Amino acid sequence: MTTEPVGSSVTSATADGSGRDGPTRPDSWTAISERVADAAALLGLDEGITSMIIAPERVLEVSVPIRRDPGHIEVFRAWRVHHDTSRGPGKGGIRFHPRVDAREVMALAADMTVKCAVVDIPFGGAKGGVAVEPRNLSTAELERVTRRYTYDVAMMIGPDRDIPAPDVNTDSRVMAWVMDTVSMFQGVAVPGVVTGKPLSIGGSAGHTGATSAGVLQTSRAIFNKLGISFAGSRAVVQGFGKVGGPLVYLLASAGMRVVAVGDVDGTIYNPSGVDPAALADHAAIHGTVAGFRGADPIGSEDLFEVDAELAIPAALGGVITPEVARSMRARVVVEAANGPTTPEADAVLDQRGVVVVPDVLANAGGVTASYFEWAQARQGFRWEEDLVASRLRRVMELAFDATWKLAEEHKVSLRRAAIALGVSRVAEATMVRGLFP
Ligand code: NAD
Repeated sequence: MTTEPVGSSVTSATADGSGRDGPTRPDSWTAISERVADAAALLGLDEGITSMIIAPERVLEVSVPIRRDPGHIEVFRAWRVHHDTSRGPGKGGIRFHPRVDAREVMALAADMTVKCAVVDIPFGGAKGGVAVEPRNLSTAELERVTRRYTYDVAMMIGPDRDIPAPDVNTDSRVMAWVMDTVSMFQGVAVPGVVTGKPLSIGGSAGHTGATSAGVLQTSRAIFNKLGISFAGSRAVVQGFGKVGGPLVYLLASAGMRVVAVGDVDGTIYNPSGVDPAALADHAAIHGTVAGFRGADPIGSEDLFEVDAELAIPAALGGVITPEVARSMRARVVVEAANGPTTPEADAVLDQRGVVVVPDVLANAGGVTASYFEWAQARQGFRWEEDLVASRLRRVMELAFDATWKLAEEHKVSLRRAAIALGVSRVAEATMVRGLFP
């Protein structure tokens, strides 16, 4: 038996959230910690309460060894983080990505704490990640990674503890394996342990596409507030996965021209607007938007320089750097991805008058639909799709209006307002629960 080297660099978290090996990308953990601290200052929160909110409750780092198809063993680093559970069980996706590390998972978990509070659903923030390139794995290997990871973090998850969901490079099939692994150990079906499951095992109608639907709703709401016509305006979208894919279709259906779309393999441009159905067909066959005949290829770095009113990052974090922000043409950025804009870039956009609808508001439709799926598992009662859709619209509307109001009251950006809204709710829960022991 041979053991191959670990497939990624190891970054460990310490209790105060500082990594031993340092970050390799724009440091998303520092960014969200500073943003939460800023919100706490805006709210005049006590320093001790602020520290309690910022520090992750627990960070579990595990090794995930699997046997590769040729017979050798490979070991991947992986994490599950509970950031804050004062408002309810942890909630957050599982990401499979070669460059994910402890600090990024902590940052994404903190985003979830704030996001669940912004939409006022009874969850705290959590997240998981496995440092693996899933494109290099067979389906059988992907299943082994998922099941071993689930086993390794099993003490962290459960319907009352922490409920994972899909994130980058994970989907309903992965959620089914997580649910099955937990159910095998418990000897009963445990549908409430994950959301984003297939419908056949307790998934919810209207869950697929809920994030995109929420992004569309917030995009329309901000255009409305700014007095820009939505129909006829142009959009660029980065990412054509579970969020970006349906979103391109929804934007076009709402009368927008989606003039550029990018993914990890390429970026395409058509000033008349891409045909969303033809693009979806192309991506279904080729696994990428690259090579789409109904548009011209452009460099990935040119995506946000394309003339458009709306820019939607729907891929990875840290992509809107100050350089990108300086050359961005859009008047509005709606963050479908988590953490796409660095704090420095935020300042540039702000100064240029570009309005940003932050991730914790814009992409909260997904976790809201996850809440509905979890509630259905707890009730043992299925909701009709129109009930899911109408409740989702209502939750997003309330969150947008509350954020807008706070931004006006404090004369701050929507990001600062949304984070302050979320942090105020987390702080209230922290204070009423008191300090143990
Ligand atoms: P996904 O894995 O389904 O799709 C990711 C997309 O990003 C793919 O099209 C991929 O090609 C593209 N991409 C990856 N690296 C890229 C790069 N360097 N340049 C350009 N494109 C690149 O993931 P998803 O579920 O669609 O998630 C996208 C983003 O939305 C993530 O930030 C995720 O955290 C966030 N998000 C997702 C959900 C959800 O419901 N899935 C909910 C809230 C937030």
